[in-house]
Amino acid sequence: MEKSGIVYECMRCGSRVPSEELELRGGETKCIICGYRILKKVKPPVVKRVQSR
Ligand SMILES: [Zn+2]
Repeated sequence: MEKSGIVYECMRCGSRVPSEELELRGGETKCIICGYRILKKVKPPVVKRVQSR
């Protein structure tokens, strides 16, 4: 079972920060690259199942 899979994107530098990474750093919603505190949630890249026939 996957517990998260949420990814945040920093509004300042555009880095993508997985929520797991934030948890490892104390649970603060904060860019791990530049320290900016405004992150927006983005969907992680999902592998689409495309049925081609
Ligand atoms: Zn940043």
